Amino acid sequence: MDISKLIPQRREVVVQLPSRGLPYGDLLPDGKITIHPWTTEEQLEFLQEGSNPVISLNSMMDRIVKRNTIFPEDFQYTQLLSGDRLFLLISQRAESIGDEYFVRSITCEGCGVIHTEIKVDVLDPNYITVLSEETYKKDGSDVTLPISGYVFQLKYQTLADIQSVANLVKGKPIPKEEKEKVTLLYAKAVRIKAINGEPVVPSDTIKLPELIRALDYKDNMVLDKALLAIDCGIDRKRPLDCACGTDMKYMIPFDSEFFRPKALV
Ligand SMILES: [Zn+2]
Repeated sequence: MDISKLIPQRREVVVQLPSRGLPYGDLLPDGKITIHPWTTEEQLEFLQEGSNPVISLNSMMDRIVKRNTIFPEDFQYTQLLSGDRLFLLISQRAESIGDEYFVRSITCEGCGVIHTEIKVDVLDPNYITVLSEETYKKDGSDVTLPISGYVFQLKYQTLADIQSVANLVKGKPIPKEEKEKVTLLYAKAVRIKAINGEPVVPSDTIKLPELIRALDYKDNMVLDKALLAIDCGIDRKRPLDCACGTDMKYMIPFDSEFFRPKALV
């Protein structure tokens, strides 16, 4: 028997990216791109991940998304918007396993009741934000901070930005308890393209957390809102309405249930 002749062709599915391809010039017209549903290869990878906490979610997402997406030859992967990457990962999951996902358990912040087996539609269109010719801003979007009056020009978050944040944090001697805070500050810093019309250069980005830390609370809230407003992709935060009256939000966890649901094993 010739096993090599039995090896199946990979399935192909065309999906449309939330960015609609607008940030990538002519490389992905209308944001249409071909993905492959997962194979046994991926299942084996998830098994391995489970036993290796050192491999970060970020690098696992990159590996899976890269292996199962057909990017045009000239496409620079690092220019992919992080929202598009999340959409690709979730679309691949939906094509491979289904769009239904049962969140194992979420504890209500109000009364402590544990909600289990919460059904989630991972591709629920209500949680997908898309860009359009009208909403896409090539040069970023301006926001004026109400207290300081500073005008920040903000850019979309690419995978290169996520990498820059990791590099900036790595290069600094930061106490463990400060690490999360510093990461959050840099995540904002790398998305600021200009301040009051002056372009932000890499040596400015390093110092930006100092400025952001000192911003008035009101300014920071407006900044956060503006950053969120230009993001496209899938919102992983979903609402939970508890009988006690608490309305809370939780993040869809990327756990084994997401990658290897019990129902299928
Ligand atoms: Zn409750």
